[in-house]
Amino acid sequence: MSTVLKISELEVDFQINGVITNTPLRGINIEIKAGKTLGIVGETGCGKTLTATAIMGLLPSSAVQRGQIEFADHGVINKSEMAAIRGSEITMIFQNPQSAFNPIFTIGAQLTMVAQRRGISDIKAILVARLESVGLRDPRRVLESYPHELSGGMLQRAMIAMALLSTPTLLIADEPTTALDATIGDQVLTLIATLQKREGFAMLFISHDVTAVAKVSDEIAVIYAGRVVETGPAHDVMSSPQHPYTRGLLGAIPSAEKARGTLVTIPGNVPSVLTNIKGCAFAERCSARIDKCDQEPPIVEIGNRSVACWVVKS
Ligand code: SF4
Repeated sequence: MSTVLKISELEVDFQINGVITNTPLRGINIEIKAGKTLGIVGETGCGKTLTATAIMGLLPSSAVQRGQIEFADHGVINKSEMAAIRGSEITMIFQNPQSAFNPIFTIGAQLTMVAQRRGISDIKAILVARLESVGLRDPRRVLESYPHELSGGMLQRAMIAMALLSTPTLLIADEPTTALDATIGDQVLTLIATLQKREGFAMLFISHDVTAVAKVSDEIAVIYAGRVVETGPAHDVMSSPQHPYTRGLLGAIPSAEKARGTLVTIPGNVPSVLTNIKGCAFAERCSARIDKCDQEPPIVEIGNRSVACWVVKS
């Protein structure tokens, strides 16, 4: 199966007046195969969205990016090459659909602009079909509506329609269900999975919600303080997590059973991006910590899993 996206040793620093203020991404390595989904999961502030922003070539000018991005048949691509395929071969959906639409134009006007940029002909018919494909029952009314006239769930579906207008090779979904209530969020997850199966695009699915990530992902990468600490097939990561942080994330998933007792949480907080990390970034929160954890942990291969931890045995 061919690789659609391969990220190698992606690092991001922020520099102000030539002085490095922090390094929030510390060597990200991920790979996505054609038609498959990689889920990136971790708490807020671990670098998930920053990873997506770096991939899309949208970091601010104060950021310094290192490492390599390979995309489909293009091979290694730089920022300007990414700009040329952004919005066509790689598209993105966001947490907040309101921010994806301009409030002063109708949905139809905005989708038409995107379709024109992509060179799509017979635009009206294509837009109606595309809105129907994302489960919007009255597409003509949606096209005539302004963003504030649609519910959050409808807007999210319209944003997905916009992202898929160009039939991308890769869709990046950044917390697409976080702003929605649970039922609507579930419907959107099912929709994304169905569209992916039907249309065959690969997906990078980013969320702090392990349950949502597990629902749509073939592979999972658990990220902590700007580094991937565990990767592997979604089923394996969910059924037998190896890294203490992954175990903590799974242990913190609320359930009806737990609701009757005490809700489990991971003690402490994600290190601030201003922290100069030495050794294992999770050490302060880790009950399995040993003396060696003062040094950066190695990547241990366990079957089809990679885990960055001193105490995990291959
Ligand atoms: S390297 Fe040490 S501190 Fe880090 S997760 Fe493993 S046991 Fe815990």
